[in-house]
Amino acid sequence: MTTLPPALTSGYRRFRGTRYREEALRYTELADGQSPRTMIVACADSRVDPATIFGAAPGELFVVRNVANLVPPCSTTPLDLHGTSAALEFAVCQLGVRDIVVMGHGDCGGVAASLAAAENRPVGQFLAPWVDLLSHSRDGILADQSLTDQSARQTALEHEGICLSLENLMSFSFVADAIAAQRLALHGVWFAIGSGILHWFNGETGRFESIEA
Ligand SMILES: [Zn+2]
Repeated sequence: MTTLPPALTSGYRRFRGTRYREEALRYTELADGQSPRTMIVACADSRVDPATIFGAAPGELFVVRNVANLVPPCSTTPLDLHGTSAALEFAVCQLGVRDIVVMGHGDCGGVAASLAAAENRPVGQFLAPWVDLLSHSRDGILADQSLTDQSARQTALEHEGICLSLENLMSFSFVADAIAAQRLALHGVWFAIGSGILHWFNGETGRFESIEA
C-alpha cells in the first residue's frame, strides 16, 4: 500500500475546506443514520456521477454502481456473490427507499463490451459473464434491420439495458411487494454525456424523453 495519489489528497482538502465546511452540521446529524428516499443504480463510469447530476446532498441518494448499471435477475445461488442484489435488499427492506432509479448513459463501455462479445472479441474474464446479462436484448437489436450503424445499436442497447434492469427489479419479491403496496416506484433515465441532458423513460410511450433543464 502506498500513499494516495496527489489528486485525491488535494481533492479531499478542497472538500474539507468547502463542501464539508458548508455541510458540517448535516454530516454530524448523518453520523447517527441515513434515511435516503431514493436508490440509484448507476454505471461505474467516471463521467456519470449520480450525486452530481441530481445535485444531491449527502444522505439523499443510496447509490449502487456497477458496469452498465445492470440489475441481475433474482438468484439465490449460494456460490455467487450478489453485491447489487444485497444493496437492493438493504435499500428496500432496511432503508425503505420510495424510488429506485436505473440510470444508464451514452458511450457506455459495458454496453460496448456486450456488442463486442457478439463479434467474439475478447471482453474479460469477469466482464464477459456480467455483460452477458444483456445478450438477449443485444441479439434482438443486432437482428433489427432498422438500426444500421454501430452508434444507433449502442444507444438502443443502452436504452434496452435500462428496461431490462427495471424488469429484473420486479423479479425480487420484496420489490414487487413494495410496489404493490405503493411504497415504491421504479424509474429509468439515460444521460447524454456530451450535452449533459437527462432522458426519462416514459413507460406509456416506451420512449426516452429529454427532461427540460
Ligand atoms: Zn457505462
